[in-house]
Amino acid sequence: MSNISANISALNKTIKNDLIATRRYLHQHPELSFQEKETSKFVAGKLDDLGIPYKSNIGGYGIVAHIEGRDSGKTVALRADMDALPIEEKTNKPYASKVKGVMHACGHDVHTTSLLGVAKILMENKAEINGTVKLIFQPAEERLPGGASLMIKDGVLQNPKPDIVVGQHVHPPLEVGKVGFKSGMYMASTDELFLHVKGKGGHGALPHDCIDTTLATSHILVAMQQIISRRANPAKPTVLTFGKIASDGGSTNVIPEKVYVEGTFRAMDEKWRAQAHKLIKDTAMYTARALGAEVEVEIKKGYPYLFNDPETTERLKALAIDFLGGDNVVELPIQMTAEDFAYYTREAKSCFYRLGVGNVSKGIQSQLHSPTFDVDEDCFDISSGLMAYMAIEELKS
Ligand code: MN
Repeated sequence: MSNISANISALNKTIKNDLIATRRYLHQHPELSFQEKETSKFVAGKLDDLGIPYKSNIGGYGIVAHIEGRDSGKTVALRADMDALPIEEKTNKPYASKVKGVMHACGHDVHTTSLLGVAKILMENKAEINGTVKLIFQPAEERLPGGASLMIKDGVLQNPKPDIVVGQHVHPPLEVGKVGFKSGMYMASTDELFLHVKGKGGHGALPHDCIDTTLATSHILVAMQQIISRRANPAKPTVLTFGKIASDGGSTNVIPEKVYVEGTFRAMDEKWRAQAHKLIKDTAMYTARALGAEVEVEIKKGYPYLFNDPETTERLKALAIDFLGGDNVVELPIQMTAEDFAYYTREAKSCFYRLGVGNVSKGIQSQLHSPTFDVDEDCFDISSGLMAYMAIEELKS
């Protein structure tokens, strides 16, 4: 362990209690995507206290701050998201959400807090900074079109353009004290599917006088899974899930006029993604027609796949090993969830890594987006120090 990593590690531990207090405040005051007004103000206040210049209202309530060291011409961008989810918290913790039906159930309170900790650590180590660190506090990760795309449109990756972008995300399956990396393809693209099946409603005892929308819908859903099992290359991960079926009327003895279906399609290959969209539309249309029905298919394109630049990821992983020790740095599998950090990975060499927050012995193991989600706050022993150390070392190289 070098001097600088030992110093940063020690400094991180001295600010841990402040970080926990900040996290608890944010956790108690969550705001939904595109509504992060007070969270943004809170972040701005903390940056004011640290004497760090920033710009507000980038891509909505986003904030971008710059910490300038010596001028090497290099820039490292660090990103934290700030929004919460429409979930009613059920942790019964003293620091549980005070906003009914809104909860930081994806750990974005931890990300924002950790990045504020990074800011503090970097300001105390300004002499070590050989370039510029750009701090991105991003809104609206959880809802399309995603705060990342809006901040990029608003120029967050310009003046200066970062050499790399780094994002940290809590990971309940990973034990606190550890971090995880995955080089290359890491997370899926995600698209929302809306099907609208139309037939002819009527008496359930007179099917010959109707066009059965529920039966047509059933065939469409079964046929669509064959796209995944027969048309997709088995070597390439892809998922199709339908999570909602509803109808206009209908009952035990009434065939409804219309049936609505909603689902999600995920992939890690843009060519397949485009092909699959056409197959989804064609399969739905021809299956419906075979049964005399009609279907409208709407596909709302969501986030692209997330690609971690392999060289950047390997360098950061080596720095994490230096900072935390080899036993605390693990290799992660790909996952089919999605993240709007993917937009940064298309614009600059990037790495999105995972922070362990789980602790089975303390009963902290609920999934992200669940009403009982929580983190082991011992994650604040390392969540800021590691990022600060990575930024300083990357600017040296
Ligand atoms: Mn998240």
